Amino acid sequence: MTPPTGSRHIGRAMTTPNKPPLDVFLCAPRGFCAGVVRAIDVVEKALARYGPPVYVRHEIVHNKYVVESLKRKGAVFVDELDEIPAGDAPVIFSAHGVPKSVPATATDRELFAIDATCPLVTKVHREAQIHHKRGRHVILVGHEGHPEIVGTLGQLPPGAITLVETPEDVARLDPPDAEKLAFVTQTTLSVDDTREVIEALKARFPAIVGPHTQDICYATTNRQEAVKRVAPLVDAVIVVGSPNSSNSQRLREVAERAGCPVARLIPRAGDIAWSDFEGIRRLGLTAGASAPEILVEEVIGAFAERYDVRLETVSTIDENVFFPLPRELRGEAAA
Ligand code: SF4
Repeated sequence: MTPPTGSRHIGRAMTTPNKPPLDVFLCAPRGFCAGVVRAIDVVEKALARYGPPVYVRHEIVHNKYVVESLKRKGAVFVDELDEIPAGDAPVIFSAHGVPKSVPATATDRELFAIDATCPLVTKVHREAQIHHKRGRHVILVGHEGHPEIVGTLGQLPPGAITLVETPEDVARLDPPDAEKLAFVTQTTLSVDDTREVIEALKARFPAIVGPHTQDICYATTNRQEAVKRVAPLVDAVIVVGSPNSSNSQRLREVAERAGCPVARLIPRAGDIAWSDFEGIRRLGLTAGASAPEILVEEVIGAFAERYDVRLETVSTIDENVFFPLPRELRGEAAA
């Protein structure tokens, strides 16, 4: 849970006259979102209920620390379902969602599948399916190759959905019928970049229909807002998160664009390139939606060894979002 706005000193006992002062501004909200909490819970509850092994298709969330800790508890991560032997062991689909072909294959193979897709990603899948049923060609705004995009593209038959990333891609679009178009977006994009792409879509195809603004989720939006508030106040920003985490990458870009001279994405404290932070007096710190708070604390600890750290939380909004577990595991949660 994100701590309330306030300030405190870290490492006072370690303070020496040689330690320079450092103000660390903690962005709030930061770190785990409701979809990630739910996905990790799904794996842990499945392990508790069915015992190991529990198979997980792809990284359950994009964070190596989380994946490694689940592996130690008995989760087995696979790239595809054909790596899973026949049997009763559950297979869990990751928070990013899967193409329709994946649950279909699981059914064919009589595997026991549990879907940990974030409900906000499922909502985008449903939007795409409804547009398709209504005869609209769907434009998907997102980053090619990201698992969420692979999953959303895979909700519709080939040719029914087209991926765009930039306004330049929009200019090159050649849809079957400009009067029957709809758009959906990836949930973890830059709010500002996506606004530009949607404006380009609406300018070129005035009849296009889509969500009121975009499908970027509350967690992505809130974490970007907090970084925008902090970035102009500091000499450097650190985003704790994995390089393959889309929302973490976007946080680093948002910090840079908000005028912060040094913005770095780091998976762990051990990855800090200290030469990047020489001479700083004020540091902004946040974490992507799949990064656990323990890794933020690790980074604070690393700075506290070198600086007299004063922590201040900059809070932009309170989050109270919670998603219930998939029905296969709800009894376990109640227990
Ligand atoms: S970042 Fe957003 S869409 Fe992704 S898991 Fe979290 S809440 Fe769901």
